[in-house]
Amino acid sequence: MDNFRRCALCHNEGILKKSHIIPKFTFKWLKKTSITGFFRNGISPNRRLQDGYKTYLLCGNCEELFSKWETLFNNKIFLPFNDNAPLQNSYEDWLIKFAISISWRVLTYFKIKNYLNHFNQDFLISVDNALNDWRKFLLEKTVQDYDFEQHMLPVPPITNTQNLSNLPSNINQYVKRSIDIDVACSNSEAYTYAKLGRIFVFGFIKKDSSKVWNDTKINNDKGTLLNKHYKVPQEYMDFIFYKAKRMLTVQNKMSEKQWNCIDKDYKSNSGLFKGSNMIEAINLDEELFNNNKF
Ligand SMILES: [Zn+2]
Repeated sequence: MDNFRRCALCHNEGILKKSHIIPKFTFKWLKKTSITGFFRNGISPNRRLQDGYKTYLLCGNCEELFSKWETLFNNKIFLPFNDNAPLQNSYEDWLIKFAISISWRVLTYFKIKNYLNHFNQDFLISVDNALNDWRKFLLEKTVQDYDFEQHMLPVPPITNTQNLSNLPSNINQYVKRSIDIDVACSNSEAYTYAKLGRIFVFGFIKKDSSKVWNDTKINNDKGTLLNKHYKVPQEYMDFIFYKAKRMLTVQNKMSEKQWNCIDKDYKSNSGLFKGSNMIEAINLDEELFNNNKF
């Protein structure tokens, strides 16, 4: 039987379900809030989309474990923040569990699909270490000296472009209306990237402690979300801009030639992050949701 396998989380054998890499509530919200209520071009439901984000990964028990944290995140953070409603200010340990469950799913997915060709041998060892620690953490086994930090960045509408150079023309559309995943690395750092509407989650595989992040790190027990001074190192902002520009190409608003120039510049700068070759597939999927009316 095709779906009789070992669960990637608890390692028990059984009938696995096709698990969502990015939780279903994100897609539901996008569909509900699109102008037409349908996916772009009336394609609904789209086969590629479903296949692109789902794979046999978890048993029923582990799916249930994840769904507890997903419901809390959806009700307390995702829906209020994406709908500009009042955000609940405090969180407890479900937030770190949720964030790690996302980073673990993204990284597991990229590993299974062999999308980590841009990683060197050292980073690949770090990938296995991160997956192992994240898995233990999700299964509530104690992890000492845990150093695979999770950072969350909620991005409000961008109205002031003065302090942001190199801003893509579709940045607000990308931030608000897209779902995106990737696993990226530079010379010194590697991380998982997941964006669920306006909420960005970075899961560190290898972190350079000299880079300054403000107020983005998710605490292991509890914390607050409001009145923060979020700050992300410029390389990470550049990566987000890069992804937004990539979306423009996929939507045919930028010619392949224009894109090649951007891509070449980007790749020749060794300090910047490289995403996987999978970018196109993911963005093609997310394109379905972008009806330019956000
Ligand atoms: Zn399981």
